[in-house]
Amino acid sequence: MLFIPRHVGDETHATVAEMQRLGISARLLSAEEVAQRFPFLDPASNHPAKPVADPEFFEPTGRRIEGAVFEEDAGYVVSPGVATQNLRRAGERDGVRFLLNTEVAAVDHPAGGGFATRMTDGTVDESDVVINVAGPHSAHVNRMAGVELPLQTRALRREVHLLTNPRFEEGSTDSLPIVGDLDGGIYFRPESGGRDVLVGSTEPACDEPEWIDDPDDFDHGVTELYRERQCWRLMKRFPEVGYGPARGLAALYDVTVQDWYPIVDRTDLPGYYVCIGTSGSSFKTAPVLGRLVAALVEAQSSGRDTDAQPVQLELPHVGESVDTSFLSRLRKPNTSTGTVIG
Ligand SMILES: Cc1cc2nc3c(=O)[nH]c(=O)nc-3n(C[C@H](O)[C@H](O)[C@H](O)COP(=O)(O)OP(=O)(O)OC[C@H]3O[C@@H](n4cnc5c(N)ncnc54)[C@H](O)[C@@H]3O)c2cc1C
Repeated sequence: MLFIPRHVGDETHATVAEMQRLGISARLLSAEEVAQRFPFLDPASNHPAKPVADPEFFEPTGRRIEGAVFEEDAGYVVSPGVATQNLRRAGERDGVRFLLNTEVAAVDHPAGGGFATRMTDGTVDESDVVINVAGPHSAHVNRMAGVELPLQTRALRREVHLLTNPRFEEGSTDSLPIVGDLDGGIYFRPESGGRDVLVGSTEPACDEPEWIDDPDDFDHGVTELYRERQCWRLMKRFPEVGYGPARGLAALYDVTVQDWYPIVDRTDLPGYYVCIGTSGSSFKTAPVLGRLVAALVEAQSSGRDTDAQPVQLELPHVGESVDTSFLSRLRKPNTSTGTVIG
């Protein structure tokens, strides 16, 4: 993965040093090194990104990127659908019961304690614990339970577009990198076995965010406006790409408005937890977030106040533990780029 920040500063150096300390193969490349390693990428700096209607949209800025973080071994989940299906099977093997095509209509909490979760088909599920993992419906489900959080989650409509990868060669193992391009206002990576390039947005300030009030009612198709924004910005960074027919989809992020970090915590309603606000980036961190929710429920159930004593989560694969208060509902908003990059 190649990450192109808007600026290379102390925070970039500190992040690379921390990644190296954890054994991750990451290094900072200069603009010249990026051009040498990836000669098909234009190392020009395009920050701040311009709106597509700007007559100077394609005018060269005369500046180069300040550098990029290269993480050679990074990858992505090729098929989230298959991965989700595998997780479902693993859960069922361990006793998890899924009620598919069943919609929660109300989350009642009688005075005596516990929850009665009512479905639209009239059935009721009684439990001691309810965890809100409703994705873009997270704010809606919190309202059902009468829970308010100091941090706000909102559904944000996003589009991803596909273009033909001009560098694809059958049988070649030389892949495009995954590129997180905060400088250019996009991210892109290979798709369809490398035949296509998938391009999304990193929310440049010039693009008005499309917040959605009703997550059951939004346009799932791609639009010309987003197509131009994302594909034209891609063509600036990767000039060999051609435009082609419109292909892609639209879906919703569940964004924590204040800092684009998930909220994984108990709430002021005993027994009601949230794992929400994943802000477009938490498919790959789902296993860790799942462990954290389990640790929170266990800690609270055994009488520990996790607000006063936040969970220190063990990360078995890296042999480290992490203070999870940065995901608390009570946190001061984290310093972030305010984008899907976090
Ligand atoms: C366009 C796009 C691109 C993305 N790209 C990436 C990426 O490259 N990498 C990455 O890590 N992440 C990515 N993400 C983010 C990732 O998809 C989410 O973080 C992840 O899906 C969150 O999982 P979740 O289980 O919390 O919520 P979801 O996957 O949203 O699942 C929530 C579930 O709750 C159900 N639900 C909601 N309300 C109710 C109700 N009342 N009753 C019953 N069920 C209900 C929904 O039907 C849904 O099945 C992307 C997201 C989008 C939209």
